[in-house]
Amino acid sequence: MVADEPVSALDVSVQAAGTELLMEIQCKEKTTLLFISHDLSIVRYLADRVLVMYLGHVVETGSTDQVFSPPYHPYTEALLSAVPIADTRVSKKHIVLEGDIPSAVNPPPGCPFQTRCRWKAQVPEGLCEREIPAPRQLAEGHQVKCHLDEAILRAMEPVIEIAAE
Ligand code: SF4
Repeated sequence: MVADEPVSALDVSVQAAGTELLMEIQCKEKTTLLFISHDLSIVRYLADRVLVMYLGHVVETGSTDQVFSPPYHPYTEALLSAVPIADTRVSKKHIVLEGDIPSAVNPPPGCPFQTRCRWKAQVPEGLCEREIPAPRQLAEGHQVKCHLDEAILRAMEPVIEIAAE
């Protein structure tokens, strides 16, 4: 079952009902649900595995816990900082993407995210502008496509933190 932005045009009050209905159908039919969305709060609620796409490229894949915790692909990091969270116990980094939004029909050379990436300067010799990164395994089932050194990726701080009660 493929659901492409199924609840994004709905009022918040009926989004939950729509999401519950999809999960009910999935469970009843014992099928896979491919849920396409920009709303990462809903993705976190219902997905077991997440693929993050930018300009037609899959830039990160992993279990939901892996994708929502560092190390992140730099685009995933920016997406997470845009998740609206009303809970006052939650603190969130504010990351503003700069640079041009590239055209999907005329993509930039190298990494598809290189015109907007705040980490690009940490990769030597302009590699991000020359080569599309190959998939790299960070853990079992967790891959990113990024040239950043593994030590830098692993030192990334969480975007979203929940204060202890
Ligand atoms: S490969 Fe370079 S430009 Fe692309 S996400 Fe990684 S650091 Fe940023």
